Amino acid sequence: MAFEQRIPRDTSANLFAEAQEYFPGGVNSPVRAFRSVSGPPLFIREGHGSHMTDEDGNRFLDFCCSWGPLIHGHDNPHIREKVIETVVKGTSFGTPNRLGNQLGKLILDNHRYVERIRFVSSGTEAVMSALRLARGVKGRNKIVKFDGCYHGHVDNLLVKAGSGLATLGTSSSAGVTESVARDTLVLPLGDRDLLERTLTEHAGEIACIIVEPIPANNGLLIQDKSWLECLRIKAWKHDVLLIFDEVISGFRVGFEGAAGLYNVQPDIITFGKVIGGGFPVGAYAASKEIMDYIAPVGPVYQAGTLSANPVAMAAGLAALELCLEPGFYEGLAERTAAMADRITGYAKEKGYPLHVPHVGSIFWLAFGNERIERADQIDPANMTYFKTIHHELLQTGVYLGPSGYEVGFVSSAHTDLDIQEAVAKICAAMDVAF
Ligand code: PLP
Repeated sequence: MAFEQRIPRDTSANLFAEAQEYFPGGVNSPVRAFRSVSGPPLFIREGHGSHMTDEDGNRFLDFCCSWGPLIHGHDNPHIREKVIETVVKGTSFGTPNRLGNQLGKLILDNHRYVERIRFVSSGTEAVMSALRLARGVKGRNKIVKFDGCYHGHVDNLLVKAGSGLATLGTSSSAGVTESVARDTLVLPLGDRDLLERTLTEHAGEIACIIVEPIPANNGLLIQDKSWLECLRIKAWKHDVLLIFDEVISGFRVGFEGAAGLYNVQPDIITFGKVIGGGFPVGAYAASKEIMDYIAPVGPVYQAGTLSANPVAMAAGLAALELCLEPGFYEGLAERTAAMADRITGYAKEKGYPLHVPHVGSIFWLAFGNERIERADQIDPANMTYFKTIHHELLQTGVYLGPSGYEVGFVSSAHTDLDIQEAVAKICAAMDVAF
């Protein structure tokens, strides 16, 4: 498919060519390579509020928001101030620090379902540690995960995952040993009978069930509350732990994430993205009883040189303080719904096969008119529409993540005018695509 290029991308193209000399595929994370959309990836120079600017000087209304962390947009003044205040005092000590306490307290005081938390440096690390914890608590090896849920690049979980793997047209990774893969039982989302049979057949072998309660890495596969309740009940019934991977949904769809939104209590929750205010932070949290299995109290080892890094803690603290302001989540959700519903309405009016599911401030351009709840309901052939839409949006100054399997995020920096502009431009892009 030939695309008419209307914005300059030469500088990005040159930097990308140079990057091929340094990094596999020219990138440090696969989806950034723009493999399933057109042109070279944009090299971004700076971002402020709802916009970012690339090295060619093009300005974009940003709905990727660094893949989710930037719930307050780019360069938020409150976060910037706290980070600068902290960074001038030194950047890392490898000791406990007051900011870590403050962020821990803020979270535990405002989240009904966790009593102790451990900070790590990424979502992947959070999930990896939570799985080890679950295995340590239960003394069992196997885990249950769901097709299309992505949990970072943890060996056990790179089986039928989404995110970058979906973009690359694969579901699992080479280099994951057979024995590790054998310990991962992958089920389709929503199949209650199969879940029951699996938990019964493997009684005494399964440590935990892990799920993205709002699966958002293979499109946005919004689940019924009753399915999450079913997971809770079955985990209790079969004496396995329930892990909610809230790396995306945590502090995003509400301060208590999906657990709070659906009122379903998991045993362990993993966090990432929003929790770090744009810095590398992850965390896992649970009851005191479960978290006391972690070293130095208990036998499950987990450590990190830069864990609870003070600058990252300052950023996370500033970000979460803003999230706790009255009406914050309601405002974001309203703006997101307005945008999504207007796009869906336009598509309907024109007879285009597209709708925009949304929850909180997460949305997805879903092709077809039926609700999509499982990864296998996505038709990869429709991704050519996404490619056209993505290209058209870049030409008109709107940035979506460079894959039709990825969701978009609205931040508190997006104004009503930004939303109006985005709706108009997405509708115009649909006119070209369909
Ligand atoms: N879990 C979920 C649900 C995610 O969406 C991601 C990343 O997108 C991860 C885990 C891994 O987090 P990170 O990329 O910070 O390692």
